[in-house]
Amino acid sequence: MVLGIESSCDETGAGLVREGRLLGHAVASSMDEHARFGGVVPEIAARAHVHAAAPVVRAALADAGLAMSDIDAVAVTAGPGLSGALQVGVAAAKGLAYALDVPLYGVHHLAGHVAADTLEHGPLPNPCMVLIVSGGHTSLLLVRDLARDPIVHLGDTLDDAAGECFDKAARVFGLPYPGGPAVDRAAREGDPRAVPFPRPLTTRREHRYTFSFSGLKTAAARWAEEHRAAGRPLPVADGAASLQEAVADVLTRKAVAACTEHGVGTLVVVGGVAANSRVRALAEERCAAAGVELRVPPLRLCTDNGAMIAAVGDLLVRAGAEPAPLDLTVDPSAPLEYASLHPAAPGS
Ligand code: ATP
Ligand code: MG
Ligand code: FE
Repeated sequence: MVLGIESSCDETGAGLVREGRLLGHAVASSMDEHARFGGVVPEIAARAHVHAAAPVVRAALADAGLAMSDIDAVAVTAGPGLSGALQVGVAAAKGLAYALDVPLYGVHHLAGHVAADTLEHGPLPNPCMVLIVSGGHTSLLLVRDLARDPIVHLGDTLDDAAGECFDKAARVFGLPYPGGPAVDRAAREGDPRAVPFPRPLTTRREHRYTFSFSGLKTAAARWAEEHRAAGRPLPVADGAASLQEAVADVLTRKAVAACTEHGVGTLVVVGGVAANSRVRALAEERCAAAGVELRVPPLRLCTDNGAMIAAVGDLLVRAGAEPAPLDLTVDPSAPLEYASLHPAAPGS
């Protein structure tokens, strides 16, 4: 059984996976401690991980009804993420791997987001199209064997990530932190056609897989400012619904087009923004129309957690990947090339 540890941002997660099956997991979040700053404070996050790491591992074991001695390997997020936060998880993972005398694997956080889906829907088809939409990333990827093959980037965002756009727009709308879920909730009462927000990078073919969200944030700010200057109350629900519609439209349009153009039959949407109700609904609608199978992990596995890291570790173990040395270091800006963050993938 593989223990996965996640500490790249403000969630401390531990998960236990055996042969692709989730046995138990636990997550602690320092989100509330960051709320009054309007964003994650790295030093506070790192300190919270120190306090949460051991209890969260114990809670995951309790959830599974298993003991420390049942752990056969430890996988940990080694990047990308906040350096100090990552170091806490990596130190904990090294300590456990050394004490239990089991192999250690350093995994890429985004590979974790991808692997999260396997815990609910089984092995990923090879190949599959993956849309990663999280707080820090927005990418379209062509994924073959996640544990072995290099990951092909079809396109990324030129500026802000989709989650960042939700978070920043929420501030403009005066919605609470964290912004994504707040926009989603507010949008329920709003009209998605009320504000004609732009659909960035949807006209030129060479940009068909590239994203840009900073212009949307600016458009939302300008819209709010116009109301303020005119002394009119801000129709927050309409703004939220319209912004959410613009983001969901751009994301799903490009992702489905990528599937069609590459003849790929499955789209997997992962990361925190995959929790968004409109992104899910529109992806469903457009995939159905294009004859593409859609896979989206359940909400609890979309945001950061340890189970998704354990899922990658489990894949690496079963692929016979080389374990990490005990002097494994963190890589806060690791590019997503392989699921494993040390030269480990067989055939790589
Ligand atoms: P990364 O994975 O790129 O390092 P991260 O780990 O911070 O970044 P995630 O935990 O995957 O990101 O996702 C967090 C993001 O998801 C935040 O920007 C949050 O606002 C957004 N998010 C969560 N739920 C929703 C929702 N229902 N609608 C829109 N956005 C959401
Ligand atoms: Mg988070
Ligand atoms: Fe994440």
